[in-house]
Order: sequence, then C-alpha cells, then structure tokens
Amino acid sequence: MSAQRVVTFHYTLTDSTGEILDSTKGEAPFGFLEGAGQIIPGLESQILNLEKGTKKKITVTSDNAYGPRDENLVKPVPREQFEQKEIKVGDQFQVGDEHGGGMPLIVVDVSATHVTLDANHPLAGVDLTFDVEIIDSRPATKEELSHGHAHGGDGHHH
Ligand code: ZN
Repeated sequence: MSAQRVVTFHYTLTDSTGEILDSTKGEAPFGFLEGAGQIIPGLESQILNLEKGTKKKITVTSDNAYGPRDENLVKPVPREQFEQKEIKVGDQFQVGDEHGGGMPLIVVDVSATHVTLDANHPLAGVDLTFDVEIIDSRPATKEELSHGHAHGGDGHHH
C-alpha cells in the first residue's frame, strides 16, 4: 500500500434533477485524509488518484453514497411527546447524543394526534453528482496521520 494522501478539492454537488445541494464555491476547498472516512467512500475511491488541477464530473449512486431510503424509519409519534406548540411539515428535530450529533428527524406529516418523523438521511436514495476540481493532492504528514484528518488552510483547523 502506498502512502496515505491528502486531497483538497472544490466541488458542487447536484442531485439527478440538477438541483445544487452543496458547493464549496466561494468558500475554502475541502480537504480530506485518505481512508479516514471523511467523505463518502464512493467519492473517495474516484477522486483519490486524480492529478492536481483535474476537473471531473463524478457520479455516485445512492448505494455507494447514503444508501437506499428505509420506509421503516418513517414513524408517527404521539403529539403529546412534543413540547413545541407549533409543528409543521419540514421542521427538523435533532436527536442523539450530548455532542449534538445524530441524524436530524424531519417532520413529513402532522395530524391532530400524531407527528410523523422521517429518520432517513436527507440524501438517502439520491444519486449524487459531484463536479470536482482537484486543488491539491499530496502525501499526508505524520501529524495528519496521527490525528486522522487533513490539516492546512484548506481543511481542518485546530
Ligand atoms: Zn489535527
């Protein structure tokens, strides 16, 4: 196995209808350390060996991105379990640990008695297209390897 790399890139992410979901345009490019799980594997495998300066359109099917939608993750919850008076479709609730992590639950239906929450990742079942431009591609430093993430003006800051 060759040395782990750090790749820094700009991207614009669109879904299959061409709607822009995310972009680094106007921001710092995104940097990641190879094999550290910083980006989805389906993108990492296609981006890793691109030369600095390369521009490429990369499509990652949902199976290789956030997986298929699971309708079992759509659940009605009794209205009285919510403290909020006003709840409407599209609202998000953050559940999970004390770090504030965890998947947002999205309200998909509201009735007099129940609120229906969808715990699927917003990008589950979505085929993703990344327009990427490789800004830099270099071997990782010892420090980056020990921290498990990319450093530098482009990526992670301490
Ligand atoms: Zn670090």
